[in-house]
Amino acid sequence: MCSIIGYKGNEHASSILIEGLKKMEYRGYDSVGIATIKSGKLLTRKGVGKVAEVNKSLGLDELPGNLGIGHTRWATHGGIVDSNAHPHLACDSTIAVVHNGIVENYDELKDELTRSGHVFKSETDSEVIAHLLEEYFEITQDIRLSMIFTCKRLTGSFAFVAIFNSSTMCGARYDEPLIVGVGNDDYFLSSDILGFLNYTDRAIFLDNRDIVIIDDSDISFFDFNGDRISRRITQVAWELGDADKGKYAHHTLKEIHEQQNTIVKSMKQNKKTLERFCDIMTRAKNIYITGSGTSYHSALLAKQIFSKSKIHVETIMSSEFQYSSDLLDENSILLAISQSGETADVIQSVKSAKAMGAKILSIVNIPTSSLARLSDSYLEVNCGPEIGVAATKSFTSQLALLYYVTDIIGRKSNGISTSKDMLVRAISEVLELDSKIERIANQIKGSRDVYILGRSLHFPVCLEGALKIKELSYIHAEGMAAGELKHGPLALIDNGSIVIVIHPNDSTYVDTLSNIHTIKSRGAKIVGISNKKNSIYDYQITIPTISEFLYPLIEIIPLQLLAYYLAIGNNANPDYPRNLAKSVTVK
Ligand code: GLU
Repeated sequence: MCSIIGYKGNEHASSILIEGLKKMEYRGYDSVGIATIKSGKLLTRKGVGKVAEVNKSLGLDELPGNLGIGHTRWATHGGIVDSNAHPHLACDSTIAVVHNGIVENYDELKDELTRSGHVFKSETDSEVIAHLLEEYFEITQDIRLSMIFTCKRLTGSFAFVAIFNSSTMCGARYDEPLIVGVGNDDYFLSSDILGFLNYTDRAIFLDNRDIVIIDDSDISFFDFNGDRISRRITQVAWELGDADKGKYAHHTLKEIHEQQNTIVKSMKQNKKTLERFCDIMTRAKNIYITGSGTSYHSALLAKQIFSKSKIHVETIMSSEFQYSSDLLDENSILLAISQSGETADVIQSVKSAKAMGAKILSIVNIPTSSLARLSDSYLEVNCGPEIGVAATKSFTSQLALLYYVTDIIGRKSNGISTSKDMLVRAISEVLELDSKIERIANQIKGSRDVYILGRSLHFPVCLEGALKIKELSYIHAEGMAAGELKHGPLALIDNGSIVIVIHPNDSTYVDTLSNIHTIKSRGAKIVGISNKKNSIYDYQITIPTISEFLYPLIEIIPLQLLAYYLAIGNNANPDYPRNLAKSVTVK
């Protein structure tokens, strides 16, 4: 979702802010803006568009001053227009605010503030924060109290940073990430450590209901009740900042190609942590798994992987969790899967599960994330920063780790622990099909609809493949259990249809082949992903033969590549799909 950055120190703030915002571009946004303070005067520039474009046209990084805030907006309330871009200013232009999240009670607050004379200049929910701060500052003449009173009035989710023309920078968080970067003579406030990692690797991860105030003499922390608290500095890994595209045209392509290494990395776990995680899992009476988007598809696969090892689990989509969570109790565990560890729907599910007494396990890519910190035990997938908005390597890493955990706690080994070398070879063979898949993508890029069929373990892979095609190429795609075709969707198939079939030579082969005949006789074109040659396919993507149970780990890769090349063919930027954000921190 959007990114926040704040800087207070001795350097030229606006160029540091722009650089930080560029590092966080992968999170997704539609508008950008910054505000700085120079000699007690607040200066601001903002507009719709990419950081580099808006900077070029408005000269954002020319704003003077050593204190400032920057923001990339992912609109939730109010259109995508310049006036709704952040920062938002209070009436007398002494306070500027950037906000991430949703102020749910903004309507009521706006009415109240308007009645007391405040004039609003945007349609956003966020602007109320600037006016509330101003209102309380007028009454108290105290920044700390203004922050506390303001935070107490807000409902919903927020991380916000405010600058006051007295040269103070403050931040607060509730259900949205906000991290303090501690430099030698300066401080940063950011949604993501990438925002300041070029300057410092010392970070303070704020907790929910934390307020931080940085003035000329001090940095201090308070909770929403005004009580002083202390927060410790964590040294973060510099490698997290290693997020350039290398020889690849896009982060997404680079990340797809990294999978031969990342899959194995996810199985390198600290022995004690892994034991504790597996122990909690083994003791649980009921296991539920939750996730959103790609991570939900991992959960669906996990259900099948676990059931093959005779472990029964239920999956609940995180955004639906609140409607079906009555089942959980103190004998349950909720295993939450999230790349960022900040996904609002997942965090919300975890909080409800905790309230019902359940234990929380999680699988994350970011160990400092809110989800990791809410968990009784968590495992890291270790796949490195994933910048492309659409999840690719994090999916296969989650899967490999789920296989690995099942191998340890299951009654029957699924073979992943002994198959690492074979998997690496198989993945590199699939990645070599890159240009062949590009050619197929060029043949089918004009299609309006794409269907992806498979059975058993391959079905969740179909869902994930369809999600990739939708996200990256904007072509309508649907993943289906192949056997369901005849129960309705067959009505859609005609000679313009493209049907991709996940069709390895395993226990699903014969039944899926019958489905292919049915589709083929209605004129559809078939793309077969299989380890067995068959002339029934119009295009064949040949994958290597591996153990039946592990196929999902390799068969998603041709679908990721296909989605990538369909995006390129349709002139879409695969790294930053329209309307999407990497870290979905709103419900
Ligand atoms: N709700 C705010 C808006 O629409 C902030 C959105 C964001 O997190 O970027 O401006």
